[in-house]
Amino acid sequence: MSIDVTGLTKTFGDFVALDNVNVSLPTGQLTALLGPSGGGKSTLLRIIAGLDAADSGTVSIEGVNATKLPPQKRNVGFVFQHYAVFKHMTVAKNVAFGLEIRTHGGLRPPWTPQKRADRAHIQARVDELLKLVHLSQFSHRLPSQLSGGQRQRMALARALAVEPTVLLLDEPFGALDAKVRKELREWLRRLHDEVAVTTVFVTHDQEEALEVADEIVVINEGRVEQVGTPDQLYDDPANDFVMGFLGEVTTLGGVTLRPHDIEVATAPHSAGAIEGSVHRMLRIGFEVRLTVLTIDGDDVSVVLTRTHARALGLAEGATVWLTPANGATVIPSMRAVG
Ligand code: ADP
Ligand code: MG
Repeated sequence: MSIDVTGLTKTFGDFVALDNVNVSLPTGQLTALLGPSGGGKSTLLRIIAGLDAADSGTVSIEGVNATKLPPQKRNVGFVFQHYAVFKHMTVAKNVAFGLEIRTHGGLRPPWTPQKRADRAHIQARVDELLKLVHLSQFSHRLPSQLSGGQRQRMALARALAVEPTVLLLDEPFGALDAKVRKELREWLRRLHDEVAVTTVFVTHDQEEALEVADEIVVINEGRVEQVGTPDQLYDDPANDFVMGFLGEVTTLGGVTLRPHDIEVATAPHSAGAIEGSVHRMLRIGFEVRLTVLTIDGDDVSVVLTRTHARALGLAEGATVWLTPANGATVIPSMRAVG
Protein backbone atom coordinates (compact mmCIF):
# COMPACT_ATOMS: atom_id res chain seq x y z
CA MET A 1 0.00 0.00 0.00
CA SER A 2 1.10 3.53 -0.65
CA ILE A 3 0.21 6.92 -2.00
CA ASP A 4 0.20 6.54 -5.77
CA VAL A 5 0.31 9.56 -7.99
CA THR A 6 -0.22 8.85 -11.68
CA GLY A 7 0.09 11.17 -14.66
CA LEU A 8 -0.41 14.28 -12.56
CA THR A 9 -0.34 17.56 -14.47
CA LYS A 10 -1.12 21.00 -13.07
CA THR A 11 -0.93 24.32 -14.88
CA PHE A 12 -1.43 27.88 -13.67
CA GLY A 13 -2.39 29.80 -16.82
CA ASP A 14 0.19 28.64 -19.33
CA PHE A 15 2.77 27.84 -16.63
CA VAL A 16 3.26 24.10 -16.10
CA ALA A 17 3.76 23.56 -12.35
CA LEU A 18 3.56 19.73 -12.52
CA ASP A 19 4.35 17.90 -15.71
CA ASN A 20 3.07 14.31 -15.82
CA VAL A 21 4.27 13.32 -12.34
CA ASN A 22 4.26 9.59 -11.54
CA VAL A 23 5.42 8.54 -8.11
CA SER A 24 4.64 5.99 -5.43
CA LEU A 25 5.20 6.92 -1.78
CA PRO A 26 5.42 3.83 0.39
CA THR A 27 3.30 3.22 3.48
CA GLY A 28 4.85 3.71 6.89
CA GLN A 29 7.84 5.60 5.54
CA LEU A 30 9.10 9.12 5.81
CA THR A 31 9.45 10.44 2.27
CA ALA A 32 10.99 13.81 1.44
CA LEU A 33 9.96 15.84 -1.60
CA LEU A 34 13.20 17.67 -2.26
CA GLY A 35 14.01 20.31 -4.83
CA PRO A 36 14.65 23.97 -5.49
CA SER A 37 12.06 26.61 -4.70
CA GLY A 38 9.35 26.87 -7.37
CA GLY A 39 9.85 23.27 -8.50
CA GLY A 40 6.29 22.15 -7.69
CA LYS A 41 6.71 20.44 -4.29
CA SER A 42 3.93 22.34 -2.49
CA THR A 43 1.63 21.99 -5.49
CA LEU A 44 2.10 18.21 -5.40
CA LEU A 45 1.50 18.09 -1.64
CA ARG A 46 -1.64 20.24 -1.90
CA ILE A 47 -3.03 17.97 -4.62
CA ILE A 48 -2.33 14.88 -2.47
CA ALA A 49 -4.15 16.63 0.41
CA GLY A 50 -7.06 17.58 -1.82
CA LEU A 51 -6.56 21.30 -1.22
CA ASP A 52 -5.99 21.77 -4.94
CA ALA A 53 -7.18 19.83 -7.99
CA ALA A 54 -4.91 18.60 -10.78
CA ASP A 55 -5.73 19.23 -14.44
CA SER A 56 -5.29 15.54 -15.11
CA GLY A 57 -4.01 12.41 -13.40
CA THR A 58 -5.00 10.46 -10.30
CA VAL A 59 -4.11 10.26 -6.61
CA SER A 60 -4.77 7.07 -4.72
CA ILE A 61 -4.25 6.80 -0.97
CA GLU A 62 -3.86 3.29 0.46
CA GLY A 63 -5.59 1.77 -2.52
CA VAL A 64 -8.54 4.20 -2.49
CA ASN A 65 -8.92 6.48 -5.50
CA ALA A 66 -8.90 9.88 -3.76
CA THR A 67 -8.73 12.05 -6.88
CA LYS A 68 -12.23 13.45 -6.41
CA LEU A 69 -12.47 13.23 -2.61
CA PRO A 70 -12.62 16.46 -0.56
CA PRO A 71 -9.72 16.97 1.91
CA GLN A 72 -11.75 15.95 5.00
CA LYS A 73 -12.55 12.56 3.42
CA ARG A 74 -8.89 11.74 2.69
CA ASN A 75 -7.86 11.25 6.31
CA VAL A 76 -4.69 13.31 5.94
CA GLY A 77 -3.03 15.52 8.55
CA PHE A 78 -1.39 18.68 7.28
CA VAL A 79 1.23 21.02 8.76
CA PHE A 80 2.50 24.14 6.99
CA GLN A 81 5.51 26.38 7.56
CA HIS A 82 3.30 28.97 9.23
CA TYR A 83 0.74 26.88 10.96
CA ALA A 84 -2.63 28.38 11.79
CA VAL A 85 -3.27 28.06 15.53
CA PHE A 86 -6.17 29.15 17.68
CA LYS A 87 -4.50 31.98 19.55
CA HIS A 88 -7.07 32.18 22.35
CA MET A 89 -6.99 28.42 23.08
CA THR A 90 -4.45 26.63 25.26
CA VAL A 91 -2.03 24.14 23.78
CA ALA A 92 -4.19 21.26 25.05
CA LYS A 93 -7.35 22.78 23.51
CA ASN A 94 -5.57 23.33 20.20
CA VAL A 95 -4.53 19.68 20.12
CA ALA A 96 -8.02 18.53 21.17
CA PHE A 97 -9.78 20.63 18.54
CA GLY A 98 -10.04 18.03 15.76
CA LEU A 99 -11.10 15.33 18.23
CA GLU A 100 -13.81 17.55 19.75
CA ILE A 101 -15.24 18.32 16.33
CA ARG A 102 -15.19 14.69 15.32
CA THR A 103 -16.71 13.42 18.57
CA HIS A 104 -19.23 16.13 19.43
CA GLY A 105 -19.64 18.01 16.18
CA GLY A 106 -18.72 21.10 18.23
CA LEU A 107 -16.70 22.33 21.16
CA ARG A 108 -19.37 22.45 23.93
CA PRO A 109 -21.05 19.10 24.32
CA PRO A 110 -24.26 18.80 26.34
CA TRP A 111 -23.61 17.33 29.78
CA THR A 112 -24.60 13.66 29.49
CA PRO A 113 -22.81 10.57 30.86
CA GLN A 114 -21.85 9.51 27.33
CA LYS A 115 -20.39 12.95 26.53
CA ARG A 116 -18.52 12.88 29.84
CA ALA A 117 -16.94 9.56 28.87
CA ASP A 118 -16.03 10.99 25.45
CA ARG A 119 -14.48 13.99 27.10
CA ALA A 120 -12.35 11.81 29.38
CA HIS A 121 -11.29 9.83 26.33
CA ILE A 122 -10.27 13.00 24.46
CA GLN A 123 -8.39 14.23 27.52
CA ALA A 124 -6.41 10.98 27.69
CA ARG A 125 -5.59 11.14 23.99
CA VAL A 126 -4.43 14.78 24.28
CA ASP A 127 -2.21 13.87 27.24
CA GLU A 128 -0.70 11.06 25.21
CA LEU A 129 -0.05 13.33 22.20
CA LEU A 130 1.49 16.11 24.31
CA LYS A 131 3.80 13.55 25.83
CA LEU A 132 4.73 12.32 22.36
CA VAL A 133 5.76 15.84 21.25
CA HIS A 134 7.34 16.66 24.63
CA LEU A 135 4.92 19.46 25.51
CA SER A 136 3.18 17.96 28.55
CA GLN A 137 4.37 20.71 30.86
CA PHE A 138 3.07 23.39 28.47
CA SER A 139 -0.49 22.10 28.06
CA HIS A 140 -2.06 25.14 29.77
CA ARG A 141 -0.03 27.76 27.93
CA LEU A 142 -1.30 29.83 25.05
CA PRO A 143 0.45 29.42 21.67
CA SER A 144 1.96 32.91 22.06
CA GLN A 145 3.81 31.62 25.14
CA LEU A 146 5.63 28.94 23.12
CA SER A 147 8.81 29.16 21.08
CA GLY A 148 8.61 28.67 17.31
CA GLY A 149 9.85 25.10 17.59
CA GLN A 150 7.37 24.26 20.34
CA ARG A 151 4.53 25.71 18.26
CA GLN A 152 5.42 23.48 15.31
CA ARG A 153 5.49 20.47 17.66
CA MET A 154 2.03 21.46 18.85
CA ALA A 155 0.94 21.67 15.21
CA LEU A 156 2.22 18.15 14.65
CA ALA A 157 0.37 16.87 17.71
CA ARG A 158 -2.81 18.49 16.40
CA ALA A 159 -2.36 16.93 12.97
CA LEU A 160 -1.73 13.51 14.54
CA ALA A 161 -4.70 13.75 16.93
CA VAL A 162 -7.29 12.39 14.49
CA GLU A 163 -5.02 9.47 13.55
CA PRO A 164 -4.49 10.37 9.91
CA THR A 165 -3.51 7.71 7.37
CA VAL A 166 -1.02 10.17 5.95
CA LEU A 167 0.81 13.11 7.45
CA LEU A 168 1.75 15.87 5.00
CA LEU A 169 4.34 18.43 6.12
CA ASP A 170 5.17 21.44 3.96
CA GLU A 171 8.52 22.84 5.13
CA PRO A 172 7.25 22.68 8.73
CA PHE A 173 10.53 23.92 10.18
CA GLY A 174 11.33 26.36 7.38
CA ALA A 175 10.66 29.50 9.41
CA LEU A 176 12.84 28.47 12.36
CA ASP A 177 16.50 29.21 12.93
CA ALA A 178 19.13 26.68 11.88
CA LYS A 179 19.83 25.21 15.32
CA VAL A 180 16.16 24.65 16.23
CA ARG A 181 15.53 23.26 12.75
CA LYS A 182 18.28 20.70 13.21
CA GLU A 183 16.90 19.68 16.61
CA LEU A 184 13.38 19.36 15.24
CA ARG A 185 14.37 17.20 12.31
CA GLU A 186 16.11 14.76 14.65
CA TRP A 187 13.00 14.84 16.78
CA LEU A 188 10.77 14.25 13.74
CA ARG A 189 12.82 11.21 12.78
CA ARG A 190 12.42 9.74 16.28
CA LEU A 191 8.71 10.62 16.34
CA HIS A 192 8.24 8.86 13.02
CA ASP A 193 10.05 5.78 14.29
CA GLU A 194 7.57 5.76 17.19
CA VAL A 195 4.28 6.30 15.35
CA ALA A 196 5.26 5.10 11.83
CA VAL A 197 2.50 7.07 10.10
CA THR A 198 3.12 7.47 6.37
CA THR A 199 4.69 10.91 6.16
CA VAL A 200 5.48 13.14 3.21
CA PHE A 201 7.78 15.99 4.03
CA VAL A 202 8.58 18.92 1.71
CA THR A 203 11.99 20.55 1.95
CA HIS A 204 14.42 22.47 -0.24
CA ASP A 205 17.26 21.60 2.17
CA GLN A 206 19.27 18.60 0.93
CA GLU A 207 20.90 18.04 4.32
CA GLU A 208 17.48 17.88 5.97
CA ALA A 209 16.25 15.33 3.39
CA LEU A 210 19.39 13.20 3.58
CA GLU A 211 19.28 13.14 7.37
CA VAL A 212 15.58 12.52 7.93
CA ALA A 213 14.07 10.64 5.00
CA ASP A 214 13.75 6.92 4.25
CA GLU A 215 13.19 7.86 0.64
CA ILE A 216 13.71 11.05 -1.35
CA VAL A 217 11.81 12.25 -4.42
CA VAL A 218 13.82 14.93 -6.20
CA ILE A 219 11.51 17.39 -7.95
CA ASN A 220 12.65 20.09 -10.33
CA GLU A 221 10.66 22.24 -12.77
CA GLY A 222 7.51 20.18 -12.26
CA ARG A 223 9.17 16.85 -12.96
CA VAL A 224 10.51 13.99 -10.86
CA GLU A 225 14.27 13.81 -11.45
CA GLN A 226 14.93 10.72 -9.33
CA VAL A 227 13.46 8.62 -6.52
CA GLY A 228 15.63 6.66 -4.11
CA THR A 229 17.05 6.23 -0.64
CA PRO A 230 19.48 8.93 0.54
CA ASP A 231 22.40 6.58 -0.19
CA GLN A 232 21.15 5.71 -3.67
CA LEU A 233 20.77 9.37 -4.58
CA TYR A 234 24.07 10.42 -3.10
CA ASP A 235 26.12 7.51 -4.49
CA ASP A 236 24.31 6.97 -7.76
CA PRO A 237 22.66 10.20 -8.91
CA ALA A 238 20.69 9.91 -12.16
CA ASN A 239 22.06 13.13 -13.60
CA ASP A 240 24.19 16.13 -12.73
CA PHE A 241 21.19 18.09 -11.46
CA VAL A 242 20.56 15.50 -8.72
CA MET A 243 24.26 15.19 -8.03
CA GLY A 244 24.68 18.94 -7.68
CA PHE A 245 21.56 19.33 -5.57
CA LEU A 246 22.57 16.64 -3.07
CA GLY A 247 26.04 17.88 -2.34
CA GLU A 248 28.94 19.98 -3.45
CA VAL A 249 30.32 19.24 -6.92
CA THR A 250 33.26 20.42 -8.97
CA THR A 251 34.53 19.62 -12.44
CA LEU A 252 37.82 18.01 -13.40
CA GLY A 253 38.80 17.46 -17.03
CA GLY A 254 35.20 17.32 -18.26
CA VAL A 255 33.65 15.26 -15.49
CA THR A 256 31.49 16.32 -12.63
CA LEU A 257 32.43 14.86 -9.28
CA ARG A 258 32.56 15.64 -5.55
CA PRO A 259 35.54 17.62 -4.17
CA HIS A 260 36.41 14.87 -1.68
CA ASP A 261 36.47 12.29 -4.50
CA ILE A 262 39.59 13.80 -6.05
CA GLU A 263 42.97 12.21 -5.45
CA VAL A 264 45.85 14.64 -4.97
CA ALA A 265 49.48 13.74 -5.71
CA THR A 266 52.66 15.79 -5.68
CA ALA A 267 54.09 13.92 -8.68
CA PRO A 268 52.51 12.86 -12.02
CA HIS A 269 51.47 9.43 -10.71
CA SER A 270 49.25 8.38 -13.63
CA ALA A 271 48.96 9.17 -17.33
CA GLY A 272 45.56 10.85 -17.01
CA ALA A 273 46.46 13.06 -14.03
CA ILE A 274 45.78 16.76 -14.54
CA GLU A 275 48.46 19.18 -13.47
CA GLY A 276 47.65 22.33 -11.56
CA SER A 277 48.82 24.60 -8.80
CA VAL A 278 47.27 25.18 -5.38
CA HIS A 279 45.76 28.63 -5.65
CA ARG A 280 44.10 28.72 -2.23
CA MET A 281 44.27 26.46 0.78
CA LEU A 282 41.77 26.73 3.65
CA ARG A 283 41.88 24.73 6.85
CA ILE A 284 38.38 24.15 8.26
CA GLY A 285 38.39 21.85 11.29
CA PHE A 286 39.60 18.41 10.27
CA GLU A 287 39.38 19.14 6.55
CA VAL A 288 41.45 21.15 4.12
CA ARG A 289 39.86 22.75 1.08
CA LEU A 290 41.96 23.53 -1.96
CA THR A 291 41.26 25.57 -5.04
CA VAL A 292 43.52 24.19 -7.73
CA LEU A 293 44.09 26.11 -10.94
CA THR A 294 44.76 23.49 -13.63
CA ILE A 295 46.87 23.95 -16.77
CA ASP A 296 43.56 23.69 -18.71
CA GLY A 297 42.46 26.87 -16.92
CA ASP A 298 39.85 25.19 -14.65
CA ASP A 299 39.27 26.07 -10.99
CA VAL A 300 38.90 22.73 -9.25
CA SER A 301 37.69 22.38 -5.65
CA VAL A 302 39.33 19.61 -3.67
CA VAL A 303 38.65 18.48 -0.11
CA LEU A 304 41.03 16.27 1.82
CA THR A 305 41.77 15.55 5.45
CA ARG A 306 44.18 17.70 7.40
CA THR A 307 46.39 14.68 8.03
CA HIS A 308 46.55 13.85 4.34
CA ALA A 309 47.34 17.45 3.35
CA ARG A 310 50.11 17.55 5.92
CA ALA A 311 51.55 14.23 4.72
CA LEU A 312 51.67 15.63 1.18
CA GLY A 313 53.31 18.81 2.44
CA LEU A 314 50.75 20.96 0.62
CA ALA A 315 50.97 24.74 0.62
CA GLU A 316 49.67 27.53 -1.58
CA GLY A 317 51.65 27.65 -4.82
CA ALA A 318 52.50 23.92 -4.74
CA THR A 319 52.24 21.94 -7.97
CA VAL A 320 49.84 18.98 -7.76
CA TRP A 321 48.35 16.29 -10.03
CA LEU A 322 44.65 15.46 -9.77
CA THR A 323 42.69 12.34 -10.71
CA PRO A 324 39.22 11.05 -9.79
CA ALA A 325 39.66 8.78 -6.74
CA ASN A 326 38.92 5.07 -6.96
CA GLY A 327 35.18 4.54 -6.61
CA ALA A 328 34.36 8.22 -7.11
CA THR A 329 30.85 9.12 -8.30
CA VAL A 330 31.54 10.68 -11.67
CA ILE A 331 29.09 12.13 -14.17
CA PRO A 332 30.22 13.31 -17.61
CA SER A 333 29.81 17.07 -17.61
CA MET A 334 26.85 18.54 -19.51
CA ARG A 335 28.99 21.51 -20.50
CA ALA A 336 29.35 22.05 -24.22
CA VAL A 337 32.83 21.20 -25.41
CA GLY A 338 34.75 23.61 -27.64
P1 ADP B 1 7.76 24.72 -4.39
O1 ADP B 1 6.87 24.31 -3.28
O2 ADP B 1 8.58 23.59 -4.95
O3 ADP B 1 8.61 25.89 -4.05
P2 ADP B 1 5.26 25.43 -5.69
O4 ADP B 1 4.57 24.13 -5.87
O5 ADP B 1 4.81 26.30 -4.59
O6 ADP B 1 6.84 25.18 -5.63
O7 ADP B 1 5.15 26.27 -7.02
C1 ADP B 1 5.51 25.77 -8.28
C2 ADP B 1 5.30 26.85 -9.31
O8 ADP B 1 3.92 27.09 -9.49
C3 ADP B 1 5.92 28.19 -8.92
O9 ADP B 1 6.51 28.78 -10.05
C4 ADP B 1 4.76 28.99 -8.42
O10 ADP B 1 4.95 30.36 -8.66
C5 ADP B 1 3.60 28.43 -9.25
N1 ADP B 1 2.34 28.52 -8.52
C6 ADP B 1 2.04 27.83 -7.40
N2 ADP B 1 0.78 28.11 -6.98
C7 ADP B 1 0.29 29.02 -7.85
C8 ADP B 1 -0.98 29.70 -7.98
N3 ADP B 1 -1.97 29.51 -7.12
N4 ADP B 1 -1.11 30.56 -9.03
C9 ADP B 1 -0.11 30.73 -9.93
N5 ADP B 1 1.08 30.13 -9.87
C10 ADP B 1 1.28 29.28 -8.85
MG1 MG C 1 6.71 25.13 -1.37
